[in-house]
Amino acid sequence: MGPGPSDVHPRILSAMARPTIGHLDPAFVGMMDEIKSLLQYALQTTNAMTIPVSAPGSAGMETCFVNLVEPGDKVVVCQNGVFGGRMKENVERAGGIAVMVQDDWGKAVDGNKLEETLKANRDARIVAFVHAETSTGVQSNAEELVAIAHKYDCLAIVDAVTSLAGSPLKVDQWGIDALYSGTQKCLSCAPGLSPVTFSESALDKIKARKTKVQSWFLDLNLVMGYWGGEAKRTYHHTAPVNALYGLHEALVMLQEEGIEKAWERHQRNHQVLRAGIEAMGLRFLVDEAHRLPQLNAIVVPEGVDEVRIRQRLLQEYNLEIGAGLGVLAGKVWRIGLMGFASNLKNILICLGALESVLVEENAAIQQGAAMTAAKRASA
Ligand SMILES: *Cc1c(COP(=O)(O)O)cnc(C)c1O
Repeated sequence: MGPGPSDVHPRILSAMARPTIGHLDPAFVGMMDEIKSLLQYALQTTNAMTIPVSAPGSAGMETCFVNLVEPGDKVVVCQNGVFGGRMKENVERAGGIAVMVQDDWGKAVDGNKLEETLKANRDARIVAFVHAETSTGVQSNAEELVAIAHKYDCLAIVDAVTSLAGSPLKVDQWGIDALYSGTQKCLSCAPGLSPVTFSESALDKIKARKTKVQSWFLDLNLVMGYWGGEAKRTYHHTAPVNALYGLHEALVMLQEEGIEKAWERHQRNHQVLRAGIEAMGLRFLVDEAHRLPQLNAIVVPEGVDEVRIRQRLLQEYNLEIGAGLGVLAGKVWRIGLMGFASNLKNILICLGALESVLVEENAAIQQGAAMTAAKRASA
């Protein structure tokens, strides 16, 4: 129950254990087509360029930046946690100029600040932000931020690694131009693949490049020779066959549940955890309006050794929760309720274990109320 990888569903694990076949085998190519259309459903898009990059979320991030950013391009990067900082790195390594919009860790990206920055930087070409900041448990308003980007003729690159399948994400309706995600968070799949999607406007910018994409492996023009349209597939790299079996199964399961139902389940379970956490007298870091249901940042009570609590949870209850990062190190715990792991049983185990360890460590918490509150909230 940390910030990912989340528990991988047994159905996905057994799909991954199927025999490895050739990555140009017609049966495999047929499965690739299914993965593309299932991903379009998961991302709520009709973008033809919707594929899983053969590497983790960070490679999906690089795919977006190396293809879209040309040397000299000005990119406005909104940062309110760890992952916005990585976007800045990517812009600069691709030869772009990053203009930062900073918000406090634990707060959502401020649309007004973004708009002010775009007014002062009329030559900016791209806006980039993180939809679900896993480092702080904050959800920013992607629809609003994309609309602001478009108003100033910028393309929008969105990090949706933690939001995909966990909270509403509508690529076409919101007009997102380029997006990357991951498999090991709310899809409950093994780590190692990164779904990405690109709009027609984004592809136009890539086609109009004056310079070659500096990464051979992530150059979409080449990758599409393998993943692309109806034409025959050409070898680019050996696809991670078994990892793709897993992603296929995860996406089939998502379709069986229904994407809206998955969003609702994450939201409902967040409320159940919240009832227990608050009954214990603990509080959330993030304002209610911007809380991520799949990543709950809980403030460590005064005088409690947060590392020791996490170690005891792991050793005594076999339960992993996440630590705070950067400025929040030592100040919060991050409890993941992602994918398959977002269920009542996990919440009750987590609340029970956390309460008993906190009591033994003499923390000033309300005893004996959390489980009842959670069960009542789940009824
Ligand atoms: C996990 C995560 C990433 C990185 O994904 P990897 O698969 O670890 O490379 C990027 N952005 C966010 C918001 C994440 O939560």
